[in-house]
Amino acid sequence: MALLKAKIVVVPLGEVDFMIVNRLAADIGPVFNRSIDILKGMKMPTEAHNVIRNQYYASVLLSKLERTKANSREKVLGVCEEDLYLPDETFVLGNSDPLAGTAVVSLFQIRQVFYGLPEDDAKVYPRLYKEAVHQLAHIFELSECRNPKCVNYYSQVMLDIDTKSNRFCDICRRRLTTLV
Ligand SMILES: [Zn+2]
Repeated sequence: MALLKAKIVVVPLGEVDFMIVNRLAADIGPVFNRSIDILKGMKMPTEAHNVIRNQYYASVLLSKLERTKANSREKVLGVCEEDLYLPDETFVLGNSDPLAGTAVVSLFQIRQVFYGLPEDDAKVYPRLYKEAVHQLAHIFELSECRNPKCVNYYSQVMLDIDTKSNRFCDICRRRLTTLV
């Protein structure tokens, strides 16, 4: 009998929009051929908060998320509303630790309100979905793709995210089927 595949566990962080987290959780399972659990939620850890930058340190969030794992094979995805950073980056939309099997994505800069525009779910959700799939691809050890249409394309600029599709290119899809 084949070994049962470990789950992807989705963790809502802080006061995150639960509807969007549920929708994301439902959509990512089939992409990676895994079942999904959604945890009740976790407070944003204060030790991750950088008062001067008023942002949260993504690596600290990842190590907190790692502690929610029920077993070493589980993959964990945290979703938050707060702005994230890494020491060398002004901000990050998401981050992942392939060794730990953890990823985090933020809605902060994905939301239209960040750009002074009216909120628009038709824009916000696809951005979140693409960033989450991109980060999860990392923890399934898929390296970044150079095809700007591929969901696994490295896209830090919102225009790049909006331009890329929500699907893997043929090369990534083939690699993913051998990894997942
Ligand atoms: Zn690709």
